[in-house]
Amino acid sequence: YIIYLDLYNFSIINDNYGHSQGDKVLREIGAKLKSIVGKFGVVSRMAGDEYVIIVNKDRDPEAIANEALEMVREKIVLYSGGEKKEIYMSAYAGIAACPEHSKDPEEIIVFADIAMAKATKDKSQVPVFFNPSMPESVARKLEVEKYIREGLAHNYFYNVYQPQYRVKDQGLRGFESLLRLKTASGEMISPSEFIPVAESCGLIGEIDDYVLIRVMKEFKEMVVYVQENLIISVNISAKSLCNPMFSEKISSIIMQTGFPARNLEIEITEYSLVHSFDVAIENIKRLRSLGVKVALDDFGTGYTSLSYLYKMPVNLLKIDKTLIDDIENDAKSRLFVNAVISMGHLMNCEVISEGVENTNQVSILESQNCDFIQGFVWSKPLEYEDARKMAMKTDIIRQFKVARDII
Ligand code: C2E
Ligand code: MG
Ligand code: MG
Repeated sequence: YIIYLDLYNFSIINDNYGHSQGDKVLREIGAKLKSIVGKFGVVSRMAGDEYVIIVNKDRDPEAIANEALEMVREKIVLYSGGEKKEIYMSAYAGIAACPEHSKDPEEIIVFADIAMAKATKDKSQVPVFFNPSMPESVARKLEVEKYIREGLAHNYFYNVYQPQYRVKDQGLRGFESLLRLKTASGEMISPSEFIPVAESCGLIGEIDDYVLIRVMKEFKEMVVYVQENLIISVNISAKSLCNPMFSEKISSIIMQTGFPARNLEIEITEYSLVHSFDVAIENIKRLRSLGVKVALDDFGTGYTSLSYLYKMPVNLLKIDKTLIDDIENDAKSRLFVNAVISMGHLMNCEVISEGVENTNQVSILESQNCDFIQGFVWSKPLEYEDARKMAMKTDIIRQFKVARDII
């Protein structure tokens, strides 16, 4: 068997702690892998942060790969600028079998690599076995990478905006910006497909910058002159949040565009925290001191321990759609969401439920004191012009109410 192992976001270590510390991490992980495989296999480093393990036929490759993934997740101690830092890595693994998948030594490594790419795409915490339909998905990945480059060069990216509503008065809280890519031939590619590709081919930083600047330009007039409480949320990748210069970058875009910090919300996920917890937390704190809001996206899908979460100075928990889906029919799921909302409030956060699709769910969430709702039940993501009109209209209603109160 061939097990192909790729460290996730390893470049962050090199960028933040220098190449000598990066080498140390690679050596340490290499030694750990050797200790697992022992006498019945061989470990070698392929390129950069990728390892290949060859395992004898009579062993269970899945068990070995699982053990390897667990070892990689153990704490590693680094020294940076005389300071001791604890970091946590993670990896994705693919497995291919000889002779079932191929007898050719080069081809079987490629197949294990392909299975690993699938594991990365699905954020799979367990190893993925190769299957013969996978090469197609690799071709697709290359195609999507090409579209991303074209999109950045020719401005084929644009933002749509999904409204977020307050539960108590159904008023508009703000919008989440969601990125869209329409290729030259008119094909729409979903962010669930192109964001992971952009992350793996190093283009995500450029995309994040593009989105931030565009969002702040598009909504500056609105939040300065019309709706001073409107919040615009922007999704940010782990790669950006782990860049020590990220908060400086945000503050320079704020200066450059004149978009007020207090109207900006950055959405991060737990995955952003796994690798460079210290840098990420430092960035979050600096953003907060600039007045920028920080939301924790996809809450309930990750595996971060509560003690980590507790240390995170976020203002908004976004409960993931998968937790909301069953609240009507499943009492346990209802209790669980209720507990998450209470926990959010205990952490001094507001709580929003995402992917709410019907009014039954709204009533349940209302009874559980959920603060905000985002979902198809009230609105799908809107084109910029429609979002702008909606924000204007909300303001007219509000001014009308004020006028009526005065009379
Ligand atoms: P997310 O940030 O969790 O965004 C929510 C996703 O759920 C959006 O999908 C939205 O259209 C969808 N959604 C909202 N309400 C409902 C509902 O009631 N039912 C259903 N079925 N779906 C609903 P979308 O736009 O395809 O985005 C997918 C993911 O791509 C986002 O998940 C986010 O992780 C990522 N993404 C989107 N835009 C950006 C971006 O500008 N930068 C980065 N780094 N990631 C982005
Ligand atoms: Mg989001
Ligand atoms: Mg989400």
